[in-house]
Amino acid sequence: MTADTQPIPRPGILDVAPYVGGESKAEGVARVIRLASNESALGPSPRAIAAYEARAREIHRYPDGGSTELRAALARHHGLDADRIVCGSGSDELISLLVRAYVGPGDEVVYSRHGFLMYPIAAKTAGATPVAAPEKNLTTDIDALLAAVTAKTKIVFLANPNNPTGTYTSAEDVARLHAGLPPSVLLVIDAAYAEFVSRNDYEPGIGLVDNAANVVMLRTFSKIYALGGMRLGWAYCSPSVADVLNRVRAPFNVNAAAQAAGIAALADVAAVDRAREHNDIWLPWFTRELTGLGLTVNPSVGNFVLVRFSAPPAHNADAAFAHLQSCGILTRKMGSYHLPEWLRITIGGEDEMRAVIAALRKFLAS
Ligand code: PMP
Repeated sequence: MTADTQPIPRPGILDVAPYVGGESKAEGVARVIRLASNESALGPSPRAIAAYEARAREIHRYPDGGSTELRAALARHHGLDADRIVCGSGSDELISLLVRAYVGPGDEVVYSRHGFLMYPIAAKTAGATPVAAPEKNLTTDIDALLAAVTAKTKIVFLANPNNPTGTYTSAEDVARLHAGLPPSVLLVIDAAYAEFVSRNDYEPGIGLVDNAANVVMLRTFSKIYALGGMRLGWAYCSPSVADVLNRVRAPFNVNAAAQAAGIAALADVAAVDRAREHNDIWLPWFTRELTGLGLTVNPSVGNFVLVRFSAPPAHNADAAFAHLQSCGILTRKMGSYHLPEWLRITIGGEDEMRAVIAALRKFLAS
């Protein structure tokens, strides 16, 4: 029996296909253009870098386990109650902690078919069943999510905007989703790309959290704040959910440099404005250029686009990925999201965007 020959993990763990991040290296090219991980086009605020560096001589000290100053800064910045904020080592950690705390073997976790991959991964890790609700036009379908909820459902995850589709759900529809859920089901609104969205009918979910005990909003410093390497995210939730998260998280889950960099990044409002303005110019520019090349682009409100490369095989998504990689341009394949005909491409700097269009023009003409 295998049980005698080696330690066996809990049921479900070996069903997890490990999350594979975007590529960061390309062989044999002088300059690598990294558009595979929805990182920032402009890089972090100099104030965040300085705050990070200033921590260097203090790294023998444990961090503040409660991220107190950072939570206070977030509370001031967003007009929230600091006691309802819990910080994490990236929002990925908070996704895992919520699942660990609220979901067990035999339970179900509902998410949207092309929703962020960490939701089914976290569910399987807990021995639970991830239940994917179908989408309409690569957009979350609220009715399908509600129809997927059963007595076994413990969490419904909604990425808003969603990665990798780039589409968003209106505040009205999010409210409808919440209204259709039993109060025992946790609605986790993952608003990792919230700062990029400038639509009147969009809200990241603060109002819902304020008025209901079963809603969590997740945010991250990895995207518009350009601190992906720091691993810094936060949850805004009811006091009871915050209490649960504070019980299950590691006592020093956010390192000292990340806390310092996060506080400084929050204060640099101009850097965030620049990042948003950059995206507001280059997202539509890139979308127009790709469409002009005859490619289908899913309408995105994030800092990335999903681009379709349909047959023939010489011009399919795998061939496009390989061609771009040979030019030193790294993008993301979408097979694990059930979107094998698509590539996800992050909005980078101006020269990077122009380089992608030039490379694709050549590819499609070949
Ligand atoms: N949620 C969504 C929708 C994301 O796209 C990402 C990053 N890929 C995350 C959460 C995780 O972000 P982080 O752990 O860097 O905060």
